[in-house]
Amino acid sequence: MNRLYTKDRLVKWHIQISEMCVFCGNEVESTEHLFFRCHYTTGIWNALLGWMKIQRVALPWSSKIMWIESHIKGRSAASHIFRMVLAASVYYIWKERNCRIFRSSSATQDKVVRLVIQDVICLAVTRYDY
Ligand SMILES: [Zn+2]
Repeated sequence: MNRLYTKDRLVKWHIQISEMCVFCGNEVESTEHLFFRCHYTTGIWNALLGWMKIQRVALPWSSKIMWIESHIKGRSAASHIFRMVLAASVYYIWKERNCRIFRSSSATQDKVVRLVIQDVICLAVTRYDY
């Protein structure tokens, strides 16, 4: 929904911060860059798509949103898993971003991927009794 207080939004409100992405330092931090364009998060997505056995597609931003929507709709187990992976990924990427800014600590992409998969498996087992 583009409501997160990403740095590009904070700078528009005249808050004095570096507007560069905390993961790569090469681009302005926007929602689109932070979650879907940065090489750090792209690596996380690629690993998670591979885990879900979903073929990665290179699409422009607007088409990518529609592609994601096509995978989260429905009542199939695959749709449930995709929704959980999407929600957990956004949570852990945002948390990792905040840890880097406020705690000066950082996690590897592999660690974030493991956290997402661990949460999804735990939730799926307890919620859906697979
Ligand atoms: Zn970046």
